[in-house]
Amino acid sequence: MSIEPSWAVSPAGAASQALAELGLVDHHVHGVVRENPSLESFTNMITESDRTPRSLDEAMNTQVGFATRRWVAPLLDLEPFASSSDYFARRIELGADEVNKRLLGATGIDHYFIETGFRGDEIYGPEGMAKVTGAKVSEVIRIETIAEKVATSGVSAANFASAFNEELAKSAKNAVGVKSVVAYRIGLDFDFQAPSKSEVEVAAGTWLKEVEQTGKSRVADPILLRHLIYSAAELKKPFQFHIGFGDPDLNLHRCDPLLLTDLIRQFEAKEIPILLLHTYPYQRNAGYLAQMFRNVYLDVGLAINYSGARSNAIIAESLELAPFHKILFSSDAWGLPELTYLGALLFRRGLGEIVDSFIARGDWSTADAVKVVTAIGRDNALAAYGLTK
Ligand SMILES: [Zn+2]
Repeated sequence: MSIEPSWAVSPAGAASQALAELGLVDHHVHGVVRENPSLESFTNMITESDRTPRSLDEAMNTQVGFATRRWVAPLLDLEPFASSSDYFARRIELGADEVNKRLLGATGIDHYFIETGFRGDEIYGPEGMAKVTGAKVSEVIRIETIAEKVATSGVSAANFASAFNEELAKSAKNAVGVKSVVAYRIGLDFDFQAPSKSEVEVAAGTWLKEVEQTGKSRVADPILLRHLIYSAAELKKPFQFHIGFGDPDLNLHRCDPLLLTDLIRQFEAKEIPILLLHTYPYQRNAGYLAQMFRNVYLDVGLAINYSGARSNAIIAESLELAPFHKILFSSDAWGLPELTYLGALLFRRGLGEIVDSFIARGDWSTADAVKVVTAIGRDNALAAYGLTK
């Protein structure tokens, strides 16, 4: 397989070439939509905010919008820099199946680790994504979603903890890792100890009553969230944490990974890998943690897409302190195959440009450079999740 580095403005160096030919492992991504999106739904998905933009032009007056018009439009037979409305019209004309096929087929991603916990009914799950992409697919489960499913099953407060553990064990059987969105719910500055059984029962009682009254099952109680994390830690599977950048449901100042330092120490003692997802604008703090602790890994996915032509600067910062075997690739695309495609493209471009500049300056050998970009694009994920043969 070869992804032509047609984006290379100057002749591609060894790192860019290696990345162009590399089948990527995307260690954190979601499925794409099955049907043509409405205009409103497309404008929502092309921005990270959950506030509906006033127009398509407004939604695409951003780095990701410009990158879509520049890099994705030609894959839909349009000229580069096609207008937002021409782009959307062509996308609808081709239909979701064809757009998914063209864009996902052009990512050069060989293996997707799909997180199924967020609005999973609107998008393809792991099986559907395997079919659409023809790539290898693994699953990552979101612990809060499992708890929310248990909460709507008619369980009693006294049985909540054991019912959660049972459901968790069942879902985890085929999963390569688990994920927590505690950053969204209470932030990362929580109390780093497992709550007692009676604390969990009392908190579950209050929550279950609320679920019954409101019909909404979003878990946001600190005691319950801690219970989910410490129970899931018992599985000893690689543990993804949402860090930094995300929609306005979170308070960004409470999503700095440095806040997790004590939990990282505890997990390190138990030999549980921690994958710090996205991390922007805290990628330097994440890099520090990756250097200090044996079990810490990071990526700058999501931010790569939304920073478009500036994404190489963010990728460069991720290469400052983190050991090179601790940096992973992810697109964190949700819903739109544009985001999957751009996640891969901008990653290859950014990492390639930076590492080629190290070679050009005589700082790195070509052999080291090729080894590092191959590791970041593929091998590190396989090693961190224990999938190397
Ligand atoms: Zn995600």
